[in-house]
Amino acid sequence: MKKIQMVDLQTQYKFIKDKVDSSVLEVMQNGTFINGPSVSEFQGNLESYLNVKHVIPCANGTDALQIALMSLGLKPGDEIITSDFTFAATVEVIALLNLTPVLVDVDIETFNIDCEKVVQAITPKTKAIIPVHLFGQVANMEELIRISKIHNLFLIEDNAQGIGSTYEFLNKTKIKSGTIGDIGTTSFFPSKNLGCFGDGGAIFTNNSDLAHTIRGIVNHGMYKRYHHDVVGVNSRLDSIQAAVLNSKLPLLDFYNERRKQASLLYSQRFDGNEYLITPIVKGNCQSHVFHQYTLRVLNGMRDDLADYLSDLKIPFGIYYPIPLHRQKAYVDIRYKEEDFKISNLMSEQVISLPMHSELDENQIDFICEKINKFFKDQEN
Ligand SMILES: *Cc1c(COP(=O)(O)O)cnc(C)c1O
Repeated sequence: MKKIQMVDLQTQYKFIKDKVDSSVLEVMQNGTFINGPSVSEFQGNLESYLNVKHVIPCANGTDALQIALMSLGLKPGDEIITSDFTFAATVEVIALLNLTPVLVDVDIETFNIDCEKVVQAITPKTKAIIPVHLFGQVANMEELIRISKIHNLFLIEDNAQGIGSTYEFLNKTKIKSGTIGDIGTTSFFPSKNLGCFGDGGAIFTNNSDLAHTIRGIVNHGMYKRYHHDVVGVNSRLDSIQAAVLNSKLPLLDFYNERRKQASLLYSQRFDGNEYLITPIVKGNCQSHVFHQYTLRVLNGMRDDLADYLSDLKIPFGIYYPIPLHRQKAYVDIRYKEEDFKISNLMSEQVISLPMHSELDENQIDFICEKINKFFKDQEN
């Protein structure tokens, strides 16, 4: 059996080596390291793939979120509602811009932001909602769009874990995640579903005014050379990373399908294991792209399972061990523990198993056999 890894970038590279090597070499031979042809080519390729008017590439997924927020003309103290159960980048950029993060609890089935809690958190200062399509499953966009329209709020999708998924509305309209709200953001960090060979990110929007504003912000606030109209940043996707992404984008649907197949195998093997809750895929967002395959472990046995997996050298991840409202940097006297029942519980129950496009059935069988055995042994 091939060595089991959380992600297997070496094997993935083997399959695309010729194509990637030649496209990277081309950048080096042309010396077009910044804003080379591969970058505009990737922008066009991603616009077509997502069926979105504007893609603005940038340096990473955190920058993408920050720049998205910078483009909205917000002022200090404006409130931004986001999930308590996500990677810190989402809340970090809100705080960095002197906006006020308002964390809310998540849904117990999908780990995504709880729309009822969103409504309860809205105040006259609320300006935007940032749902995170956690682990690859799209948040309840139908409801979030309804809420944001009623309250006149911006909707920014953190699509770092959801790229390639398609959301189906009740009226059967299908739209690619990240292009549903006002702005979508993503990350091309190597382990993401579409990863480059370093850092990278992108911002998507169908709003041409916002796209124009964002293009200036990523380039030092310049709309005309050496005229700085707004405070901007320097955030670019470099040409070598764009070349890698041009080679990999045509494979994204295949990669996501492989992840989905792996998730089905896992869930089949865990069927009947009453200590585990396998991922729940909701009806109107069928297309979960399984950035992570995340189990809930019941009866307080998560940490014991984690120790057992460590002993067997089976990799796993705990995403996320501490909800954001309990992180030192983001404590806020307004938060009450009883408002975060689900995110607190999830941080004690979740465990993510190896998940990537190169995972094979033997590896999955091995992992599941060991995990099922662990729970059987507990009973004896
Ligand atoms: C990875 C990730 C980010 C940040 O992306 P970077 O490219 O690492 O800056 C933001 N939000 C979520 C949900 C992520 O998973």
